[in-house]
Amino acid sequence: MEKNYYVCTGCGMLCDDIEVESEKNIVNKVYTACRVGVAHMKEGKESAAFLVDNRPVNEETAINEAAAILKDAKNPLIFGLGTSTNEAQKLAIELAKKTSATLDDPSSFRLGSVVEALLQNRFKTCTLDDVRNKADVTIFWGTNPSDSHPRHLSKHSYFPRGTEKQRGWEEERTAIAIDVRKSHTAKICGNYFFQIPPGGDAEFIDALIAALSGKLPKTSYNFPPKRILELANILKGAKFGVILVGLGLIYSLENLEPLFRLMDALNEKANFHLIPMVGYSNTRGFNENLFEETGYVNSVKFEDGNVKHGPEYSIVESLKAKTVDAALIIGSDPFSSLPRSVAKNLLEIPVISLNPCETLTSRNAKVYINTAINGVESGGSATRMDGVKVDFKPVVETNRLSDEAVLKKIMEAL
Ligand code: SF4
Repeated sequence: MEKNYYVCTGCGMLCDDIEVESEKNIVNKVYTACRVGVAHMKEGKESAAFLVDNRPVNEETAINEAAAILKDAKNPLIFGLGTSTNEAQKLAIELAKKTSATLDDPSSFRLGSVVEALLQNRFKTCTLDDVRNKADVTIFWGTNPSDSHPRHLSKHSYFPRGTEKQRGWEEERTAIAIDVRKSHTAKICGNYFFQIPPGGDAEFIDALIAALSGKLPKTSYNFPPKRILELANILKGAKFGVILVGLGLIYSLENLEPLFRLMDALNEKANFHLIPMVGYSNTRGFNENLFEETGYVNSVKFEDGNVKHGPEYSIVESLKAKTVDAALIIGSDPFSSLPRSVAKNLLEIPVISLNPCETLTSRNAKVYINTAINGVESGGSATRMDGVKVDFKPVVETNRLSDEAVLKKIMEAL
């Protein structure tokens, strides 16, 4: 009997080999997925809810109220979309154009700068399949996929056999962790764990670049030069190397210049690629869809047929400056994820929340619609952390609308 495989939208890896048993639209068993994926696939149990001022209303009233808020606003903010499908994201971009909105997603305070540089071809990159098939040296830098993307090491980066790596881990692959703490991933890397102090990444990069050209590597925190020279030797010998970049590295750097310099230095001696460890299932999709439309990956403002871009159009800065007068938040919970001093400004403007789960943001919203879980209860496409497009179908049916369907209805009601 032919097996039915599903895609897990639990993180940016979009694993496409998931088997599921379900009955009466409830997922009972999930095979192959990690613990995060199993919990995610089993989340969809809620029935549809449309709330205005926390009181139940019908679908039409909720949609009309949401449309009225956006129509009345001079500068609405549309934010989130990291777990939305590509189709919903493209609709949100159209909605932002139509309502002269500020449009942003969590990548403005996460890995957006790295994805932007990739889309501008400033880094050499590759797919996760290339990593599985060819990579002999992998660096986990400021990232801990053992916890954040639990199947990364087993499916792609360390343990699996690939077409050119038949013997799998250790014999043919070297996994290196550079981090401020000994994470689960760092423990797996054993002697190849390089512990640096918080904020020490830029100096470590400069020391590594010096070591790559045979100079004595120095850091103000006296990292043993011998160990940096050993690391440089491993990297120089890489036939197919990859740096998996996490938030820990990006938060430590003022800008990407040290990373550009390191990649240039590595590629003078060896063959190195870079992949951002994107967390949400389709943040990369949002970045690519917006880039295609505007040339930017986040933090834009549409106005009179033009597009403006800059940090002042990020959610953090626009809320701080109180330049937005309404907010449509899709699949995100800024009340929980942003500093309280910033998020509290959302209390002063009408908020529309589209989210499968009740959150702090939905509880404080003027309008709340609990949408279907993309990948579990609704289908579409998403873009994996490495830029590969993945189509998926729903696992179960629901009476909840997808965020794509809600956005379409709001557009029509405007
Ligand atoms: Fe799902 Fe991510 Fe786990 Fe894969 S690694 S099963 S995509 S949560």
